Amino acid sequence: MEAVTGQKLIDKNINPTAMRLLVLDLLLQQASAISLSDIEKALLPADRITIYRTIKTFEEKGLVHLIDDGTGSPKYALCKDDCGADEHHDMHVHFYCINCKETFCLPDSKIPDISLPSKFSPSEMNLLVKGTCDQCAE
Ligand SMILES: [Zn+2]
Ligand SMILES: [Zn+2]
Ligand SMILES: [Zn+2]
Repeated sequence: MEAVTGQKLIDKNINPTAMRLLVLDLLLQQASAISLSDIEKALLPADRITIYRTIKTFEEKGLVHLIDDGTGSPKYALCKDDCGADEHHDMHVHFYCINCKETFCLPDSKIPDISLPSKFSPSEMNLLVKGTCDQCAE
């Protein structure tokens, strides 16, 4: 398990330090996106600044992407393999469940092409859908 986690870091040109392995391991266990404060809580008593820097490094290297779900606390989720340094391709819908308050990546739900007026060029797009998730549907 440890070796697989380490390889994921090496694949993204990230030096696999103990803290980075710990944070990635935690991210791999999540079924939904996780906030920085939840990562801090899970990894207590690890230093918050180190955790923050770790996540920022992951984001810069294309390992995680940031999701603004409108709750005021940004969430992080793992990227697909095709993201790289300064190059994210996470053009999928994010879903915020108003019942369980979890935020999910929906990689199979792509953001549709939208037409913009001439001379407007998009650099990123976010599509957040709010509603009830599959777990809460029953
Ligand atoms: Zn990404
Ligand atoms: Zn739910
Ligand atoms: Zn996502």
